[in-house]
Amino acid sequence: MIGGPAYHLPMVERVLLAEPRGFCAGVEMAIKALTWMVRVFEPPVYCYHEIVHNRWVVQAFEKAGVVFVDDVADVPEGAPVMLSAHGSAPEVIEGAAARAAVVIDAVCPLVTKVHHEVRRMADRGFEILYVGHEGHDEAVGTVAVAPEAITLVEPEEGLGEFQAEDGARVALVAQTTLGLFEWQSVLDQARERFPDLWTPRKADLCYATTNRQAAVQELARRCDLVLVVGSETSSNTRALVRVASESGADARRIDGAGDIEDGWLRGVDTVGVTAGASAPDHLVQEVIDRLAPRSGVELVAVTSEDEYFPLPPQLRAFVSTLQRLVEASVTARALGRPGRLEGDRGWSATEALASLHS
Ligand code: SF4
Repeated sequence: MIGGPAYHLPMVERVLLAEPRGFCAGVEMAIKALTWMVRVFEPPVYCYHEIVHNRWVVQAFEKAGVVFVDDVADVPEGAPVMLSAHGSAPEVIEGAAARAAVVIDAVCPLVTKVHHEVRRMADRGFEILYVGHEGHDEAVGTVAVAPEAITLVEPEEGLGEFQAEDGARVALVAQTTLGLFEWQSVLDQARERFPDLWTPRKADLCYATTNRQAAVQELARRCDLVLVVGSETSSNTRALVRVASESGADARRIDGAGDIEDGWLRGVDTVGVTAGASAPDHLVQEVIDRLAPRSGVELVAVTSEDEYFPLPPQLRAFVSTLQRLVEASVTARALGRPGRLEGDRGWSATEALASLHS
């Protein structure tokens, strides 16, 4: 997958590297949580949906003994199961609890926030417009929280023919990873049609989405070509490509350095590089190595991030219990090798991934 020597590609003068890029706090938490699972349990460990939408990360976990399933009915009775960062439908959580010995939900807290909004507004009798991509794991999980009250709105299509039963009781919520300009366009349209529109005080597009989009906009202003590292299934990666295109750059999504095509670089002086929230940074480094810019790399930082999400409470409780058992001289497989629970903040998902095959 990762490409060959740099001399196969036309030379570029400079690379502008976006900051922030790559792993967000939700992805960090989910990768570390699944790493704990494969350290504590004998394989296979099951995971409902891809833990995060990145091909490299998923393959790394598959090699470590994780089996990804799209239906909890495929989890054998009594097996340990993790639910992905994108958030799961209530019936999936119940189904997993009914068959698995241990269920750890690695949903990002910022997705949970949207689930709570949907539940609350549905209980208050509102019609809910959910701006998201049909079929995406996060959208499927969120719509399932109150399917009777939700209408899914594709961001590119807008409200279309939607008619509210009561225009004073309409709420607008969103998938966390939309393009900012797409969200804004639907928001404007909805406010015009429903002056009493309810929207969350803090927008649903998450900090990682908005920060990475601000950085890629800056790249697009200064580059001929923007390369976005991330998988096709990653919604926030695809949004970065659309935002960069909208901002005037030729923008391409790549899984890794091997996807870069010669033709993209002909006549190009400066290349912008960024990564979606689920893309490991070593893939970005390989892209830079492959581009081998004559004048080096310039960091384009729009903000810094220090968000941190603790491991899922069920996992912390479970591992703490095991730790106490170990202290009482009961052995458990490779317990604690990824790092102590208390030191989780200082342990990165990159280190967790590296530990999988050590
Ligand atoms: S992109 Fe945002 S919502 Fe999704 S996992 Fe990361 S922080 Fe959470």
